[in-house]
Amino acid sequence: MSNYQIALLPGDGIGPECMEATKLVLDRLSSAFPSLKLNLAEFQAGAGLHRDTGVALPEEVLNACKEADAVLLSAIGLPDVREADGTEVQPRMMIGLRRALELHSAVRPIKLYPGVDSPLKDTSKGIDFVVIRENLEGLFASYQGGSVVGDEVATDTMVITRKGTTQVVDYAFRLAERRKGRPTDGKKIVTCVDKANIFKSLAFFRKVFFEVAESYSDIHAEAVYVDAMSLYMVKNPWDFDVLVMENQFGDILSDLGAGIVGGLGLGPSGEIGEKHGLFQPSHGTAPDIAGKNISNPLATILSASMMLDWLGETRKDDLCLKAGRAIEEAAEKVMQEGVVRTPDMAGNSSTTEMAEAVANYL
Ligand code: ATP
Repeated sequence: MSNYQIALLPGDGIGPECMEATKLVLDRLSSAFPSLKLNLAEFQAGAGLHRDTGVALPEEVLNACKEADAVLLSAIGLPDVREADGTEVQPRMMIGLRRALELHSAVRPIKLYPGVDSPLKDTSKGIDFVVIRENLEGLFASYQGGSVVGDEVATDTMVITRKGTTQVVDYAFRLAERRKGRPTDGKKIVTCVDKANIFKSLAFFRKVFFEVAESYSDIHAEAVYVDAMSLYMVKNPWDFDVLVMENQFGDILSDLGAGIVGGLGLGPSGEIGEKHGLFQPSHGTAPDIAGKNISNPLATILSASMMLDWLGETRKDDLCLKAGRAIEEAAEKVMQEGVVRTPDMAGNSSTTEMAEAVANYL
């Protein structure tokens, strides 16, 4: 019997409806895999809670996340709920959570599923690569620490450490070992995306990258400048397998990646540390469509699939690995069939109908 404690944070905006949809799928999963027990404990956190109580992430919720085997989060933030300094609630809460759980690598699969439209004209060679973003340092290390001098000069500092870079690069190579390689020829490649020709910090990132690469002789290691990479992601994305980069570059390129494979409603993500894992859709709270039961829950459902894959891999649990694959395959069948499509996929199905369609395949 596999038994896991999962902390669920439904959050704000479309977060709760995407989480309800995912719970429906997880409920059906427990019928399909009776030996897999997921104990789901739901907690309130985010902008709505901050508005009501002045706190976005209560201490007891943070502790529950630390004690859980994994955290599944939907979406956090509302544009009209602000901290005392005028900033939105979401960055402070999420950066705080990442730091507390030491989630050093953010993983975003960029995969074009059959039946999903891409804005690219020719996708016949397939798109299936992963953006890995260093999640604790880089330009985001400056969060709440930048300075403005005399209303004339403003600075934020890029921070790259050997430890942080080694952790994220090592994770990238370990993931490449488990993957099938790039779509064109199955070659396993990890690409360092940087701006090493300009910044000392990013030249150091590249240096550490190639040092780590020496331990993975079966995987090809290469480096590409970030400006060129944004061109390649649109021109020849099938030539890539795993990309690893500094925090801010990853923030930007992972949204570009979501754009070429069907949009934010389809993009899952995982944030991984040595001890903890947090999984959430790539999209935000989409207040413009919240509460209408029209949001696409697939990104949250696929995040649950990634969570099970991570639990299976780290706990050496084949049942969990199979359950993760079963969710992805069910979602893939629904997309390929193309009958149930939410409005962002040019259809008119509801959030609940999409969840039921995936659950039925399980
Ligand atoms: P954040 O800053 O919190 O990441 P954002 O500004 O990037 O948020 P989102 O909340 O992700 O914005 O929404 C951007 C647009 O994408 C929204 O207007 C919404 O219509 C659309 N969108 C996002 N997620 C979904 C989804 N799951 N289903 C359908 N549409 C979505």
